[in-house]
Amino acid sequence: MAKPIVAIVGRPNVGKSTLFNKLAGHRIAIVDDTPGVTRDRIYADADWLQYEFKLIDTGGIEPKSDDIILAQMKRQAQVAIDTADVIIFLVDGKQGLTDSDNEVATMLRVSNKPIVLAVNKVDNMKDEANAYEFYNLGIGDPIAISSGQGLGLGDLLDEVVKHFKDYETEEEDEYIRVAFVGRPNVGKSSLINKLLGEERSIVTDIAGTTRDAIDSMLETEEGKFILVDTAGLRRKSKVKEEIERYSVVRTLAAIERSDVVVLMVDAQEGIADQDEKIIGYAHDMRKAIMVIVNKWDLIEKDDKTMNKYLDELKLSLKFMQYAPYLFISALTGQRTHKVLSMIKGCYDNYNKKIGTGVLNDVIGKALLQKEPPMIGTKRLKVYYGTQTGVKPPTFVFFINDTTAMHFSYSRYIENQLRDAFDFTGTGIKIEYRERK
Ligand code: GDP
Ligand code: GDP
Repeated sequence: MAKPIVAIVGRPNVGKSTLFNKLAGHRIAIVDDTPGVTRDRIYADADWLQYEFKLIDTGGIEPKSDDIILAQMKRQAQVAIDTADVIIFLVDGKQGLTDSDNEVATMLRVSNKPIVLAVNKVDNMKDEANAYEFYNLGIGDPIAISSGQGLGLGDLLDEVVKHFKDYETEEEDEYIRVAFVGRPNVGKSSLINKLLGEERSIVTDIAGTTRDAIDSMLETEEGKFILVDTAGLRRKSKVKEEIERYSVVRTLAAIERSDVVVLMVDAQEGIADQDEKIIGYAHDMRKAIMVIVNKWDLIEKDDKTMNKYLDELKLSLKFMQYAPYLFISALTGQRTHKVLSMIKGCYDNYNKKIGTGVLNDVIGKALLQKEPPMIGTKRLKVYYGTQTGVKPPTFVFFINDTTAMHFSYSRYIENQLRDAFDFTGTGIKIEYRERK
């Protein structure tokens, strides 16, 4: 499912944080036992009607000491332009139009991003006329809101989500969405270009204003793919530092809307914290995942090198034992012909359905092999299970007491499922529900 990114831009004190907090469902907290992505509270998930989006908080960009306010605002606006799909430009209806509003509006106007103009602090409907002077900014109809009072926010969001419409066409549902993640220079673009350049593949241009220029559509014998290069935006930017931080949000959004996440690692550099965090997020979201070790041509090898590498990588990424690995050179083309078929393999498992009968046979055997734990004087009972969904494969098991399902036993059940059915390259989701 697509998750667009929305940013709020405006002068200090116009009410950006207040609006952010009103719109944000919950600020993102990543659970502690898996590698978290970022503890900076720079974004939140939000939704309106059937739309879900990510809201980024550019207000968190620290002013540098020699910065005047306008320079800071321009940096914020630049970050928003480079990372967001829709920008809310917030101005202050009590204070009225200022020069710096004009300057920022000019920047936003030439960016060609969808801009929604909101006039804040219109706490009373009788003051709605205060919004009219903002027509002068030349970025469309101003929407009067009061973040403090929670007025007009529905109108604002209606306007914002209108720009999501061309985000994903129905035709694209047939495509397997693949996000290539990894640090700069690991070879993401090189590999994608290689895949696009391979014979017998049909490359389609993607239209749509809110789409990244870095998505490519590809049709091959293996299937139809949309390849997303998560690096593309960062490179173009004038404000590198901030973009680096916010590009993480962009990457997370790309992960959320993909089926398969390919972590690319540079063979010479190995795995970094950032890699673990990013792929940890994909793991938490139960995406299909594979790992590609690139630049294999640069490594001096003997017959043990690859296994040694593999062991080290698997140690760093032990929370996702199910992921397959591939060693390639995007430069020489070594094994690149295997990339799409491996992606397809992960995807097929991500989309796999298991019949209820065979599922319960496996669970029945698993329960016999390892007796469920006791809770006080009562023993955990697992009555039966069924698959309730795909992408990822999702199972519901009915048990006598949810407090009795310990982590180690649920891990055991997951492993039994993985042993019985091939879920290589995909997360699976298991829920336990009580039935007395
Ligand atoms: P930011 O610097 O743009 O993030 O602005 P803040 O959200 O911190 O708000 C600046 C000040 O404006 C605070 O004192 C808020 O309480 C106040 N404020 C925010 N929204 C409204 C509003 O809708 N009406 C009024 N009257 N005050 C508001
Ligand atoms: P990205 O930032 O992840 O998209 O990385 P690029 O695709 O731009 O590649 C960064 C640099 O690594 C470029 O100079 C590429 O030519 C080089 N490169 C990419 N793949 C390989 C590879 O398999 N072997 C070698 N030796 N160089 C590579």
